[in-house]
Amino acid sequence: MNGFEWMSPGSVEQAARAASATVATAMARRSGTPAADAAVLKAGGIDLLDLMKEGLLAPRRLINLRTLPGLDRIEPAGGGLRIGPNVTLAQLAAEGRLRTRWGALADAAGGAASPQIRQLATLAGNLLQRPRCWYFRSRAHHCVRKGGDTCFAFAGENQYHAIFEHNGCAIVHPSTCATALVALGAGLKITDRAGAKRTVSLEEFFVLPELELQQENRLASGEIVTAVELPEQRASVRSVHLRYAETESFDWPLADVAVVLDLAEGVCRKAAIVLGACAPAPHRARAAEAALTGQRIDEALARAAAHAALQGAMPLSRNAYKVPIFEALVRRAILAVLAA
Ligand SMILES: Cc1cc2nc3c(=O)[nH]c(=O)nc-3n(C[C@H](O)[C@H](O)[C@H](O)COP(=O)(O)OP(=O)(O)OC[C@H]3O[C@@H](n4cnc5c(N)ncnc54)[C@H](O)[C@@H]3O)c2cc1C
Ligand code: SF4
Repeated sequence: MNGFEWMSPGSVEQAARAASATVATAMARRSGTPAADAAVLKAGGIDLLDLMKEGLLAPRRLINLRTLPGLDRIEPAGGGLRIGPNVTLAQLAAEGRLRTRWGALADAAGGAASPQIRQLATLAGNLLQRPRCWYFRSRAHHCVRKGGDTCFAFAGENQYHAIFEHNGCAIVHPSTCATALVALGAGLKITDRAGAKRTVSLEEFFVLPELELQQENRLASGEIVTAVELPEQRASVRSVHLRYAETESFDWPLADVAVVLDLAEGVCRKAAIVLGACAPAPHRARAAEAALTGQRIDEALARAAAHAALQGAMPLSRNAYKVPIFEALVRRAILAVLAA
């Protein structure tokens, strides 16, 4: 790992002015050598330090957001909730206010990683962590996402890769919390180095490789996420997040699903169904949502909607096994919301 400077900014604005690059822009180099002059943001440091230890990132300076005051709170905001970027996954999992209206987020945060990691991992860091593709994480493979010419996954070991929307790069988005937050209609508040603020829906924040090959989102250099906003939900809304993984803990899921239903006496007024670990961005299963909307949901309809959710899947050479796993998970998640 390279030597680096440590900076503890006094405010969000100071941190934004000090940041010269995002981790994605510091890593994507034609030469294959990461930028040595970058000043990048650090929250819990779990993904950032991994990348540095792997020799994929060599920043000159780390800007520590962790000690900035006021960014680790969950507060009511106009019927919804405003979650500070430094709120940890452990805090989210234990937050009673999430259980009433936004249960899928508490499920997702509580099931991610391991208890130790959840104590340190922040929500913003979780949403902005880089992909797990093993070619991306290998110094020996200078792939397209790091500025090279080749995607090694298409003809290689692609058992953990995408089954949807893998045009040019077949990563799956690594954030489990993102699956739940997109289904819940969450937004991000972002401040740039000039102090300008913007709000963007999380669904629009993530980008597919056909639009942007070297970063997973629309965060620009010098921008800081200052809040994740959960919109108000009607009392009739229930949500669930389910994951399927090879191990109970300490690993990313092979498949995860968030289902949010607005139910009036068993009839579905509105549905949001999002699949994680299946595409380079959280994948909205609109055909499944349409199958449920306006209908009284029973086991047969849940099964039909789950089947619809996987229509259009394009498995790679080694990951067709994901299709039946996702179908089972979507069906179970719909039935779990009914029972909630
Ligand atoms: C063994 C293991 C298992 C795991 N399993 C899962 C899992 O199942 N599901 C899952 O979702 N994750 C999983 N993770 C990933 C883990 O949750 C993330 O690495 C962690 O959440 C990153 O958060 P952090 O606070 O440490 O971020 P950092 O590593 O500090 O930062 C990550 C990125 O976010 C940027 N950043 C952070 N905060 C801000 C901000 N406010 N504004 C702008 N940029 C910011 C940083 O610049 C950096 O690019 C696992 C990790 C490990 C090691
Ligand atoms: S899937 Fe994406 S990250 Fe993985 S090798 Fe291909 S281009 Fe690189």
